[in-house]
Amino acid sequence: SKTPLVAGLDTARSAGLFEAACKLIPGGVNSTARATWSGWSPYPLFVESGQGSRLTDVDGNEYIDYLLGLGPMLLGHRPPRVTQAVVDFIQSRGTVFALPTADEARLAEKIVAAVPSVEQVRLCNTGTEAVLYATRLARAFTKRNKIIRFEGMYHGFSDGVYWSKHPSIAKAGPDDRPVAVPQGPGMPKGVEENLLILPWNDPQALADAIAREGDSIAAVLTEPVMCNTGCILPRPGYLEAMRELTRERGIVLIFDEVITGFRLGLAGAQGRLGVTPDLSVFAKGIGGGFPVAAMGGRADIMALVANGTVSMAGTYSANGIAISAANAALDELATPGLYEKLDAVSDELRLGLGKVLSEAGLPAYVVGLGPLMQVWFAKEEIHNYRDAERRADQDIFRRWWQGMLERGVLFHPGAYENLFVSTAHTREDVAATLAAAKQVAADLA
Ligand code: PLP
Repeated sequence: SKTPLVAGLDTARSAGLFEAACKLIPGGVNSTARATWSGWSPYPLFVESGQGSRLTDVDGNEYIDYLLGLGPMLLGHRPPRVTQAVVDFIQSRGTVFALPTADEARLAEKIVAAVPSVEQVRLCNTGTEAVLYATRLARAFTKRNKIIRFEGMYHGFSDGVYWSKHPSIAKAGPDDRPVAVPQGPGMPKGVEENLLILPWNDPQALADAIAREGDSIAAVLTEPVMCNTGCILPRPGYLEAMRELTRERGIVLIFDEVITGFRLGLAGAQGRLGVTPDLSVFAKGIGGGFPVAAMGGRADIMALVANGTVSMAGTYSANGIAISAANAALDELATPGLYEKLDAVSDELRLGLGKVLSEAGLPAYVVGLGPLMQVWFAKEEIHNYRDAERRADQDIFRRWWQGMLERGVLFHPGAYENLFVSTAHTREDVAATLAAAKQVAADLA
């Protein structure tokens, strides 16, 4: 490709590496979120390295990094304590044993202590796996089949839930009763019969669905903060209503805290928002950048795993890399004052960006909570996926992203992703980001 990624930035080496990779790797990348069709068009940046809050590409451009691996680099790149723990573990002990180590229970103890709703926890490698475990367990526990899942959310790429993430609303049915739309071809026919798709942030739609089909609903699966259609906060009382409605009908409430867990505080979004699920899924926040995930919750539900009724396997589950990384990451996250500082730096960014955009007269606002946020270019508020589809200006977002990248600030080109802040980000990073934003906003206005 001869068109550069953005005009004012030399990314020729990325372009060359992408062209070469495409001959061997379909689409040139190993995840959809890095593909041209997800916004990295005509090619993604190729990375040389990351350090703290910074990322350097193969052309030598340095960025303040708010992409942060799409969330896992909560402690910044190469966090010393985590890196050292992994190196020590694999050099002195090994990686995979197909037998337990004492370190697993130490990690489980930290998770149970951090998240009050989690009485027991199983460890695995990715959010996709952990969600799959949670939905299977909920079905086994309730002896029901259907899962309520909300339009615009993402819960990993397994067949059972990779539906209605970002469907074309022309094909997705009425606003109050969406139909399930597969992510693409290849999903087995009939899976969608076990899914009920609802608009998020709409307590009436949820109450109606539960009144109609409550006896066949095993679980309500939700992100407590919607992080996969930009950032959308729950309306006041919505999660509380969800909790009440599910409890009344014996439906398992599953919080997918893959992004929010250990990012919005040690007790995740549930701790911050004060709503208690039955099962929770964690991933990006717990591994300091290494692949590790966890699924846990009520002991009476987890008992089905304990007695072998529900099987959860995995050659690499609780491997030495994952466990040593997560033990070190959670120790680091327990540092007194860490979340207060992370929130303070993040608030400065969120409030600062909001101010810069409004002073430039742009129809834009910033939504987020602590170190998780997104800029919406919209005239009206956005409370769910269809609001976003109808109200968010994707073209301005793209120009905003381009302008910021040219000025050394990196985040995902998609308006439906987030800006992530790490504990390595400083007030100086934020000041530099806001200075860049001021210039870009002036250009956009
Ligand atoms: N759930 C949520 C809320 C996510 O954001 C993601 C990934 O972005 C997943 C699940 C899937 O996690 P993984 O990519 O580790 O499989």
